[in-house]
Amino acid sequence: CLVNCPFGAINETHSALDVVIKKLADPNTQVVGIIAPAVRVAVGEEFGFAKGELVTNKLYGAMNQAGFKIFDCNFAADLTIMEEGSEFIHRLHGNLKGEADAGALPQFTSCCPGWVRYLETQYPSLLPNLSTAKSPQQMAGTVAKTYGANVYDMPPENIFTVSVMPCTSKKFEASRPEFNDAWAYHKNNGSSAAEYPDVDAVLTTREMAQLLKLLEIDLAKANDFEGDSLFSHYTGAGTIFGTTGGVMEAAVRTAHKVLTGDEMAQLDFEPVRGLEGVKEAEITLFDKSLGQEITAKVAVVHDMGKNVAPILKDVMAGTSPYHFIEVMNCAGGCVNGGGQPIDGSGTSWLGKA
Ligand code: SF4
Repeated sequence: CLVNCPFGAINETHSALDVVIKKLADPNTQVVGIIAPAVRVAVGEEFGFAKGELVTNKLYGAMNQAGFKIFDCNFAADLTIMEEGSEFIHRLHGNLKGEADAGALPQFTSCCPGWVRYLETQYPSLLPNLSTAKSPQQMAGTVAKTYGANVYDMPPENIFTVSVMPCTSKKFEASRPEFNDAWAYHKNNGSSAAEYPDVDAVLTTREMAQLLKLLEIDLAKANDFEGDSLFSHYTGAGTIFGTTGGVMEAAVRTAHKVLTGDEMAQLDFEPVRGLEGVKEAEITLFDKSLGQEITAKVAVVHDMGKNVAPILKDVMAGTSPYHFIEVMNCAGGCVNGGGQPIDGSGTSWLGKA
């Protein structure tokens, strides 16, 4: 049992829950819950819903009852894809024009902390290929404590951000010392606020279920709630971040709109869907700003330990055919992350052990 580990090896679970419970009871603190895309299709399992049943508004309602303000991480995923998609177009254009400071291609996605850490430790020479966009979790934390301070009408130091993630490595990501942009923002704007992280605590999907049970809130009986600010609004592009290929599909949609001025006629981008270890696709479109037709090649990799090495070998050798590569550590993407419910049957979200 995670909570009762007799060796004290895993006490983070207990301490994160304890801290969040204390903050929820503190009248001087506004706790903001940042809910990742993959959580809403899994947490219901802990309360008797069928596997995969979407419980977004029930989860909003239960968390609202517990005292959270709702910040849907899908909103932040939309921000991420605008940043990451724009960066990709900038790099692609710069390379096509032969600009010296165009930025490295292929561009890698940067929203999976397991993948980012792997690249840092195993292939540090490829770090320039990593998108400079922060992950949705980190963008959400920054926005909640900057723009959100006005929305919540609270000093940023009284806002406590709790992300709810399908992922255990998001705890590590939130603890990285470079992620205190909100503090830097307020300091530059004359605030004397003490240093604080963008994301104060990370709970896994399992831990959120534990929290609700500790607070005696039954998700199944919670009132549906639509959210209470623009942070509960998002597009389908933000939602599909939760599965392998989702970030790439969102990026392709964004790039198409920006480069051609039109939405894709068919929004579903099938070549990057499914559970093949490496998926690839090619997009040819008329680029209005360049006044010419261009072709971009993309690849999607999940189950990273098994599949990414040959792709990186080609990038290291300068022979990679791709312009943009999505990498996710977990098989199937975040929906199958290490923080999702375990049903005891020995099967994962992919239906295999
Ligand atoms: Fe976390 Fe896995 Fe998603 Fe990476 S793919 S962000 S490790 S859940």
